[in-house]
Amino acid sequence: DEALQEQLHEPEGSFKKYFEYTTDIYSIAAPVFLYKEIKIFSWKAVKMLFQFRKLDAFRTMHESNKAHFTNPKTVQLFDRYATYTGSSPYKAPATLNIIPHVEHAYGGWLPKNGIHAIPEAMARVARENDVDIQLNSSVDSIVKEGKKVTGVKIGGEKHQCDIVVANSDVKATYHSLLGDRDSKMAKRYEQLEPSSSGLVFYWGMDCAFPEFSINNILFSDNYQEEFHELFESMHVPSKPTVYINITSKLIPTDAPRGCENWFVLVNAPCNVGQDWEAEIKKARNSVLEKIKETIGEDVSGHIMHEHLLSPVDIQRLTGSSQGSLYGISSNSRTAAFKRQSNNSKRYKNLYFAGGSAHPGGGIPMVTLSGKICSRLIMEDHS
Ligand SMILES: Cc1cc2nc3c(=O)[nH]c(=O)nc-3n(C[C@H](O)[C@H](O)[C@H](O)COP(=O)(O)OP(=O)(O)OC[C@H]3O[C@@H](n4cnc5c(N)ncnc54)[C@H](O)[C@@H]3O)c2cc1C
Repeated sequence: DEALQEQLHEPEGSFKKYFEYTTDIYSIAAPVFLYKEIKIFSWKAVKMLFQFRKLDAFRTMHESNKAHFTNPKTVQLFDRYATYTGSSPYKAPATLNIIPHVEHAYGGWLPKNGIHAIPEAMARVARENDVDIQLNSSVDSIVKEGKKVTGVKIGGEKHQCDIVVANSDVKATYHSLLGDRDSKMAKRYEQLEPSSSGLVFYWGMDCAFPEFSINNILFSDNYQEEFHELFESMHVPSKPTVYINITSKLIPTDAPRGCENWFVLVNAPCNVGQDWEAEIKKARNSVLEKIKETIGEDVSGHIMHEHLLSPVDIQRLTGSSQGSLYGISSNSRTAAFKRQSNNSKRYKNLYFAGGSAHPGGGIPMVTLSGKICSRLIMEDHS
């Protein structure tokens, strides 16, 4: 922290003070908002009310970061954490400054064999506990009988279930699986702003670039404009911040000898029917331009292999509404209270997990949603 503080010419002690502030938010908010279903009338919620001021809910993340630091680059560095929930630092409440605490206190981790190793490990534990996992079985509908759910339909065949946990996108679950387009919750989700999406270029590079490390963020010069384009104009930012992750820097076997595997991500708006071919072409040029500006080299000739993931692909591959990465955005003070709770208030035996339900999107939160959901099931059915 001290090295970074010095590099950014921030006054002594400013980083320490900032992380004390983010730690406070975490210790007050996490027990109420992250690890449990939200219960307004619980003892923990009442206790939280007495410390409400410390949650910093009435400023935006940007306003708070600007008050903590003097260098606009430091402000931009911490503003970026809003994108971990697919939101804008100029709109999201400063309570989301909880995120830098989590990264700072617990660190960034790289699972061996990539992110897929996490669901694989969970599946292994489930199978060891006699769980039968049926892959490649798309659920057509959730079967309802009055005010309870009794099963799922796959390929026209009904499978009787005591409990249904929907990990699919909440809006899609109401619309397609439950056929409840007119329900209160479906209508609410119609009105909530989706989080942002992403555009990923997977590049196999024919050489190594010592200028880059494992995680590289090439910040844009005008962050406010970038978020305006993302959430208001709904275009891929014309001068985007570029994130480049190169795991072969740490795990050489992730790429052929002397080569590198680049995961190049720019934030993109959710899919509202943009001309994606044009958006992608423009974004690819801006990314190459930004890299050239940073390391003084045009890397396009070194791309041996390219694979693309667009918001449309994300929507198609995961069923996420409009290809948003993190369910609904946190661009309002009330977003946390509007997410689908992990148990259905409408149907008995129906539960929700995943990024569009409580407590929100991103791998850590999704994992927590599964934990909350399983605890609720045990409480209801033990
Ligand atoms: C490019 C990219 C980069 C990201 N980077 C990060 C990051 O660095 N850190 C982070 O924390 N998060 C990141 N995320 C976000 C994170 O991946 C998501 O928030 C998280 O995966 C959501 O989990 P989920 O279980 O809700 O949905 P998913 O992971 O999408 O899983 C839902 C599953 O349900 C299946 N499904 C849907 N409908 C049906 C149906 N009817 N029948 C059967 N199956 C169905 C889908 O096929 C899918 O497999 C990133 C996402 C993307 C796309």
